[in-house]
Amino acid sequence: MTRDTTAPAVRPAARAGTPAAAAVRAGAPRGAAARALGATKVHGSGGTAVRALDGVTVEVEAGRFTAIMGPSGSGKSTLMHCLAGLDRLTSGEVHLGEVELGSLSDAELTRLRREQIGFVFQSYNLIPTLSAIENITLPAALAGGRPDRAWLDRVVDAVGLRERLAHRPAELSGGQQQRVAVARALAGRPRIVFADEPTGNLDSRSGGEILAFLRQAVTGLGQTVVMVTHDPVAAGYADEVLFLADGRIVGRLREPTPESVLDHVKSLGE
Ligand code: ADP
Ligand code: MG
Repeated sequence: MTRDTTAPAVRPAARAGTPAAAAVRAGAPRGAAARALGATKVHGSGGTAVRALDGVTVEVEAGRFTAIMGPSGSGKSTLMHCLAGLDRLTSGEVHLGEVELGSLSDAELTRLRREQIGFVFQSYNLIPTLSAIENITLPAALAGGRPDRAWLDRVVDAVGLRERLAHRPAELSGGQQQRVAVARALAGRPRIVFADEPTGNLDSRSGGEILAFLRQAVTGLGQTVVMVTHDPVAAGYADEVLFLADGRIVGRLREPTPESVLDHVKSLGE
């Protein structure tokens, strides 16, 4: 498995605005984990064409937790899919680290996704016949890499799954299944984790656990997380919120709280 050897193995626990965060900004390599430049995506053609992204230019900073918010149909999933190499732009560019995704063949894009990106979906997407630990290690097995045992241990402990590793998905609650999905996304130590409405199917307690784990993946494990949500409480776990409307970035909020997110959403509606 290819790995960015210039990146520190573990980034310091730092939330922007804290002294630790200032030290990180001054010292360790940071920069953009992903960038979109004039990203435009038109779904379909002719009379039924929909401009889902309309010239989005944005950076996702490495080692941070970024939330994407916006009304239904504003292009959140399309932006995430294009940043993650699951879908291609109509025009513009997406860069993942140093790589411009549009320059890659489909096979190269598949390999990059497998090796560098973790996904968490609203509907867990676990394989029912595999145990929790088999689900967690499957992507690494498919990528042909040997799992990093020490890292895997940290991930499993972070999501609190130690006692459930032999269970199949059907033997786990929704919250536990999503924890397996989060562990699976983190297991390969990806450059970036994308989560599309990861708490959409969960009650607020299980959802809170998942959000705390995603937060911990960033603060404690140094990962980069991008999460689509329409929940101001969920967005409050992030370091920064990007607001989308009609396929465009219409706002950014650093150090969000549920209250400030709600205020921002209201101000956009006026
Ligand atoms: P969100 O995630 O914010 O709800 P989406 O990115 O899913 O928004 O969709 C943005 C717009 O693009 C919507 O109008 C949606 O109907 C349209 N759209 C999304 N995917 C497709 C597709 N595969 N084919 C046609 N239209 C699509
Ligand atoms: Mg969506």
